[in-house]
Amino acid sequence: MKNNFGTCHICGKYAKLTSEHLPPKSTGNNKLIRCYLYDQIFSPDHLPGKRKLLDFKTHRIQGGFRMNTLCESCNKFTGSNYVPAYSNFSNRVFNAMNNMSTAPQLGDTLHFQAKIIPLNFFKQALSIFCSVLDPATVTLYGFKDFILTRDSSTLPEKPFSLHMYLVPTNGASKNLPATGMVSPKSGKQMLFSEFASPPFGFILNLTPQDACISFPNLLEFVNFKFNESATLEFNLPLLNPREMPLSFDGWKDKLVFSPSGVVPVASPNTA
Ligand SMILES: [Zn+2]
Repeated sequence: MKNNFGTCHICGKYAKLTSEHLPPKSTGNNKLIRCYLYDQIFSPDHLPGKRKLLDFKTHRIQGGFRMNTLCESCNKFTGSNYVPAYSNFSNRVFNAMNNMSTAPQLGDTLHFQAKIIPLNFFKQALSIFCSVLDPATVTLYGFKDFILTRDSSTLPEKPFSLHMYLVPTNGASKNLPATGMVSPKSGKQMLFSEFASPPFGFILNLTPQDACISFPNLLEFVNFKFNESATLEFNLPLLNPREMPLSFDGWKDKLVFSPSGVVPVASPNTA
């Protein structure tokens, strides 16, 4: 039998790790998925002019995408405190996108107002990144106390930014651990992680001093209290996660979005 003991990605304790659905199962992540692995994505065969990603063989996972990353306590804590708000907003946006009279096109910016519980949603999105990232990075960025203290609105000291875009409801998912690249803007090394599953895509910028990622930053959600709901106005770009960030340069030249797509809320909480 598989040994499922390891370091919990949130609390850092060595414990039996439980299966964490990414995104939560209640968003519909419970079906057969087909995925590509990194050695395929980064294969020398997968370069412009060579094989397209779609030509590679996919791996099948039954029952939705999940990883053994969290101890039972952290899994239950995020599951009861943050998942309902995340799933609720995700399902409403998903249904709204499916019911639009004209299907939105990639590259469009979608404007809408929606009710959300911002802090809960933000903490669940960050919890997803705790599973995507390695435990050492989560510890380095101090996400543990912010996530495990339900009412905490104090961002960790080490700066980061969390950006959101929309993914077509029939679009691809993506799970990219911390990845370094040279910023096309400053020429400096930047570090980021990306997670996407319809209808949302998120980019966690771990080097926010380089403001290379220009779409809506969710840090303002931290100005709300736990369980406090709000009706917010969103301006979110619709993108194909499969194209990012491997073609980051091309993407950035083509698509420029408003840096403050989430309004109206109080001034950003800059830690
Ligand atoms: Zn834990």
